[in-house]
Amino acid sequence: MSPSSYEHELIVLNPATEEVVATVPAATAADVDAAVARAAKAQAKWAALAPADRARLLRRFADVVDQHVEELARLEVREAGHLLGNARWEAGNVRDLLAYAAGGVERLSGRQIPVPGGLDVTILEPLGVVGVIAPWNFPMPIAAWGTAPALAAGNAVVLKPAETTPLTALRLAELALEAGLPDGLFQVLPGHGPVAGTALVEHPGVAKIVFTGSTGTGRAVMEGCARQVKPVTLELGGKSPNIVFADADLRTAVDPFSFLDNSGQDCCARTRILVQEPVYDEVRELLADAVNAVVVGDPADEKTQMGPLISRRQLERVRALVPADAPGLRGSAPDGPGFWFAPTVLTGEAPDSEAAREEIFGPVAVLLPFTDEEDAIRLANDTPYGLSGSLWTRDLGRALRVSRAVKAGNLSVNSHSSVRYWTPFGGYKQSGLGRELGPDALTAFTETKNVFISTEGPAQ
Ligand code: NDP
Repeated sequence: MSPSSYEHELIVLNPATEEVVATVPAATAADVDAAVARAAKAQAKWAALAPADRARLLRRFADVVDQHVEELARLEVREAGHLLGNARWEAGNVRDLLAYAAGGVERLSGRQIPVPGGLDVTILEPLGVVGVIAPWNFPMPIAAWGTAPALAAGNAVVLKPAETTPLTALRLAELALEAGLPDGLFQVLPGHGPVAGTALVEHPGVAKIVFTGSTGTGRAVMEGCARQVKPVTLELGGKSPNIVFADADLRTAVDPFSFLDNSGQDCCARTRILVQEPVYDEVRELLADAVNAVVVGDPADEKTQMGPLISRRQLERVRALVPADAPGLRGSAPDGPGFWFAPTVLTGEAPDSEAAREEIFGPVAVLLPFTDEEDAIRLANDTPYGLSGSLWTRDLGRALRVSRAVKAGNLSVNSHSSVRYWTPFGGYKQSGLGRELGPDALTAFTETKNVFISTEGPAQ
């Protein structure tokens, strides 16, 4: 498709009802040009501010977000179908990320390296204008993962949200202005990926791209960046294992929300449940009961445990990978309008089947048996992805051996947690490139300049 054949407006639908929530103009390449020029001007002034002043403004931004958590959460329920409780957490996560990044502004320092004949120092300089391309599965937090540390390190940000979920990002940009951030420093340009996203990637005035989304699009983004030798951070797909050894606390280990949270539209979802043979039948029964008990429905109702998928397109994608007659355990989902798919655990898949290897991004896991530790590690690593994973055992030595052997960026032992804003996050293999979050998040948005100052005086 040529850029001119894309719709000029984005129609945002409520995924639970299919009602139109809003229409938003779609940014063109010319809009990206104008935004980058404004951002560059704002960035020069921002970088020249005293660190304490930049930090104060970011803390103020965090405070304003805090005052609007409920409003942002309710908007996210309407545009993305997220559960209200989850959406409140997501808005709070933006606030916390901003506050955490603000704490790094005055701590972002270079080094002094011993060199004879003078003083050698490194200076961490901002990159300039950073482009953030965000997905629809966690529109607010993922936008903030790139934006908050980039701003804290002295950069400007142009953010392109996913076309299905632009509304909370647009509201965050308004809140930034309300907090006193300079005009043009943080801009949100909703638009189509191949138009606005590509324009951002290809723009010579954009110094770095932070992309979260599918591995296929990530590869295209990386190719675009390569043409300008532009740095890129990629957070891509996953097919993460949940490795359950026979000595594990099975009831906690087989928590269905480890793959059903956000209707399974989570790059860290534990969608391959690997179970040691002696407890396979017991786990299967536990999962059958658990999946059946999940309350699927209106995401604004606080009793609901799982909402809809984001779009008809995503529903069709999930249906194509998970035929209705595939052997498995199934819960229920509403009929009628909305993009519903019942919680599902596939039980008849071979480890090399499409459903067992491809990221489905819906409320679907596959259940696979393994024999021993070696077999578990082999199965866990038998995927092009390496984002996260859980392992469950009471044997500490085995927990450490398996943690070291599984090739993934984020593992949890006897827990399903994986993402905290103050610990590093990112993938091995085709799950991505680079790390976000954690103590080094700001450094990823700087260039290191080395300066040597001679103490010998000018040459005679
Ligand atoms: P994409 O990777 O295509 O979309 C992610 C973001 O990239 C969106 O903002 C999108 O814009 C933008 N984009 C699309 N094409 C380009 C391009 N050529 N250049 C620059 N930016 C572009 O994901 P999909 O929405 O198509 O989802 C497909 C699958 O991707 C899912 O089923 C899931 O498997 C995976 N996915 C993984 C995510 C993760 O967190 N790792 C998040 C989302 C999806 P637009 O919205 O306009 O398409």
